[in-house]
Amino acid sequence: MQALRFEQPKSMQFIDCPEPADPGPDEAVVRVRAVGICGTDFGGYLGTMPFFSYPRIPGHELGVEVVAIGPGVTTVAPGDRCCVEPYINCQRCHSCRRGLTNCCEYHQTLGVHCDGGLRRLFTVPARKLHPAPRLAPAQAALVETLAIGCHAIDRAAARAEETVLVIGAGPIGLSAIEFARLSGARVIVADVVPARLEFVRDRLGIADVVTATGTPADLDAVRDLTGGRMAEVVVDATGSHTSMSAALEFGSFGGRIIYVGITRQALSFPHADVMHRRELTLLASRNALARDFTRIIGLVESGRIDTRPWITHALPFADVIDAFPGLLAAGSGVIKAVVEMP
Ligand SMILES: [Zn+2]
Ligand SMILES: [Zn+2]
Repeated sequence: MQALRFEQPKSMQFIDCPEPADPGPDEAVVRVRAVGICGTDFGGYLGTMPFFSYPRIPGHELGVEVVAIGPGVTTVAPGDRCCVEPYINCQRCHSCRRGLTNCCEYHQTLGVHCDGGLRRLFTVPARKLHPAPRLAPAQAALVETLAIGCHAIDRAAARAEETVLVIGAGPIGLSAIEFARLSGARVIVADVVPARLEFVRDRLGIADVVTATGTPADLDAVRDLTGGRMAEVVVDATGSHTSMSAALEFGSFGGRIIYVGITRQALSFPHADVMHRRELTLLASRNALARDFTRIIGLVESGRIDTRPWITHALPFADVIDAFPGLLAAGSGVIKAVVEMP
């Protein structure tokens, strides 16, 4: 059967790979119906994503259908439509034993550290399948993106009387916005790209947006919007070390700062006058938990999360190689491109 593989940075091709064997204990073979493409995949293609190794079949945002189950599998059955939680954890390390399956010490993401879903069939641990019978395949593929924001807002423990500032309105920031809104908190969004803020205002209905300039004017804008208090929760979804270092300044006294983007650069920020004086709490947010997937499936099913603004591009599997450079281009307007599998 056909798979799409990144051979090395900036090189991908269709390859022929064997069909999976019968599933072993606690495994399932799934047919891939839809694959979301995200920044991680673009980074893998360009060679800028630090955790990627090659050759690699990408695809970690997956809507699938179960075709066969191995011995001992009771949670799914052939024919079930599911979302895949693509975070493969060891189940034995200190993190896993504490229930922190999202930050297993030996964590592997499907399609990043090991082969993912841009192929017709593959084998996954059945415990990573979350039944989503009422979701369309493209909606199921979107659940993982939403899970990143869900987990970040969960870490922040945002409350209704608080203000959440989301810095960076790319797909990860947008997913944080969805859950910040569901918490009942007031949401302010900052980004350097006016078109992204237009999307947030027009399609997500967030009135309070700040066109970020990287100057003290940004602080003034947030100060004005919050009556001088600044934001109780600041979510930085930029992956920019400059933005992440500056993010603390937007926090209120007693505020929480959550980093959901990733940088390899060192961060620095004023301690005595900002971190200490305001008694800020600094949090990382990595991947997501099984319960996030369950919750999101329910929210999409009930219509509390509207996926329509999200899925901006759909493309057939056969067209991926030709379409990929166009999706990467500035001004492509891509929020989420979803590959429809044959
Ligand atoms: Zn992704
Ligand atoms: Zn582990």
